[in-house]
Amino acid sequence: MNKAKLIPLLLVVFSMTLFAQRTKLRPGTNIFSPQQDVDLGREVAKDAERQLELINNGNANTYISALGQRLASKVPNENKFPFYFKIVNDRSINAFALPGGPVYVHRGAIEAADNEAQLAGVIGHEMGHVILRHGTNQATKAQVGQGALGILGAVLGNGAAGQIAAVGGGFLANSVLLKYSRDAESQADLIGTQVLYDLGYDPKAMAEFFDKLAKEHKGTKTEEFFSNHPIPENRVTKVNAEIKKLGPLPPTPRTDSPDFQEAKRIMLSLPEPAKRDTKATPANSKPPAAPSARTIEFNSNGVRLRHPDNWKSSVQGTHATIAPDDGIINGNLAYGMIVDVFQPQGAADLDQASAQLLNQLKQGNAGMQTTRSRVQTKLDGRPALLAELSNDSPIGGKETDVVITVLRSSNEMMYFVMVAPAKDFPQYRNAFNQVLDSVRLR
Ligand SMILES: [Zn+2]
Repeated sequence: MNKAKLIPLLLVVFSMTLFAQRTKLRPGTNIFSPQQDVDLGREVAKDAERQLELINNGNANTYISALGQRLASKVPNENKFPFYFKIVNDRSINAFALPGGPVYVHRGAIEAADNEAQLAGVIGHEMGHVILRHGTNQATKAQVGQGALGILGAVLGNGAAGQIAAVGGGFLANSVLLKYSRDAESQADLIGTQVLYDLGYDPKAMAEFFDKLAKEHKGTKTEEFFSNHPIPENRVTKVNAEIKKLGPLPPTPRTDSPDFQEAKRIMLSLPEPAKRDTKATPANSKPPAAPSARTIEFNSNGVRLRHPDNWKSSVQGTHATIAPDDGIINGNLAYGMIVDVFQPQGAADLDQASAQLLNQLKQGNAGMQTTRSRVQTKLDGRPALLAELSNDSPIGGKETDVVITVLRSSNEMMYFVMVAPAKDFPQYRNAFNQVLDSVRLR
């Protein structure tokens, strides 16, 4: 080997030793199996596609699929999630991915991207959420709020997983599957950065694009994206730190392609999408009959109580929903109550355990706000706390949630959530109070 060849080789070897290993990311806690991610994503996708308008343009569809599959060939997809990619005819700058592989890019995101690297970064970021299973990780964390949300019953019960998409009465914007934490955002950024690098793109493109959007496009066009993908702290700095670990950058990284510019041109030339009312009230939202004065007994998981005889209970594990017919809209409780057990983290007194519970409920319900903080009360003669919350109702508008907590043992708290739309809550207050008065804990 002559010297001329040896020197570049040595440089490569030397420079490799300068770079730390890339960040290896693993999915967090998850009570779902990877296959359930796939099943759930498919169900929600079906629902989504009924409500969204997809772009049906051969060239643009071929382009987004080809770009997506190229990215898919490089992401560390250990669970072999089957990715697919579609364009939504919506001019807001957004993209979202559902568990197990469906990735949707809004037309507005393609229109707003300057080049292919930026778009590839957005898609890579979304794929990061999929492979790191952030959606079902969120659902896992929010499981305690399942009653208020109808999450796990929907998912693990009869497979009506599309309900998750409609959590809180809104559409995907409100879905617990798409409410990522700032940490999840940082992780998705790292996956996006790594995959850009691995395909020879400028790895800075994604963070730059998000940064640009956050600064220049404040307002409605990006509102949905940033409400689901909260801006992580020091986004650009963290991405740059990762880039340093990845290795030498190509001297002229790929940034664009004629195919991207063609797809962007197609998007810009399409007619304005038809206005859609995604917050439309579900068709089956006729209000339930008033609570009956006659009561029947409920007895499950060490809780006994009496509830109006025109309400039905359904129990799944420790979780019970007691609601009138028509009280559950698309799997979400609009009228009725939840009884469940909460296990606090660490040694917690009633106040601390209740605070933990309320935090978890809020994590899973973006629109949830405390309207009355914890006040002391009694339940079955035991000290209890009562909090009142406001949340988005599945029938549209706001609902009132009253949460009562009581310790059953040092590491187990029972909680009761009474739910009704804010405008109807006064008519339900009596019935709720009578139920609470009848509670006997074992
Ligand atoms: Zn994100």
